[in-house]
Amino acid sequence: MSYVFTPDPISSVPVQGSSQRYAVNRIYCVGQNYGDHVREMGGDPKETPPVFFSKPADAIVINNSTVSYPQATSNLHYEVELVVALSRGGTQISEASAMDCIYGYAVGIDFTRRDLQIAAKKEGRPWDTAKGFDRSAPISPIKPFYDSKNLGGARIALSLNDEIRQEAELTDMIWSVSEIISELSNFYELKAGDLIFTGTPSGVSAVVPGDHIFAEIAGVGEIEFDMV
Ligand code: MN
Repeated sequence: MSYVFTPDPISSVPVQGSSQRYAVNRIYCVGQNYGDHVREMGGDPKETPPVFFSKPADAIVINNSTVSYPQATSNLHYEVELVVALSRGGTQISEASAMDCIYGYAVGIDFTRRDLQIAAKKEGRPWDTAKGFDRSAPISPIKPFYDSKNLGGARIALSLNDEIRQEAELTDMIWSVSEIISELSNFYELKAGDLIFTGTPSGVSAVVPGDHIFAEIAGVGEIEFDMV
């Protein structure tokens, strides 16, 4: 096989405790999956089903101590999220077998150009430019889970300049991880290498260059960087 130009390397994420890397296939995201965040965005959690959208596989940012402030926005928001990493997939996956598809978990940031998202919502346009931009998905190394894949009510939190801004328990999610995998597989054929960002709790706000972000999920991992 030869190509007309040299392709970029495959997007991949380090694996905790291993020299092997996790090759990224697709990045799916869930919107509006914590009741308090749905309310802060002006919605009713019971009437708003989760929204699926995606980011390109090369949007991930790994092991960086700095993340560049993106172009084309003046209102960049952080969203800390549990990221599910799949090791198998399929279509029409049942909730009962969904957890068998999970390789591990990570903590990630779903960076959002909120100004573009607000304009897109107003006009009924797609979210791609608001969500799927370059370096919009910083992610921690993936922690494999071999036995129990249930994280229970683990704490998820984000601090901006050492001040806690987002804090919740994973059990606060409207749709559970198994429900998300099952529902997503009704729209797409899921595959090993797919990452799923599972939505963010309340407390989102803008970041500017010079800000320091620290995010963690208990028992999963942490991520820390400066915006430049
Ligand atoms: Mn999000």
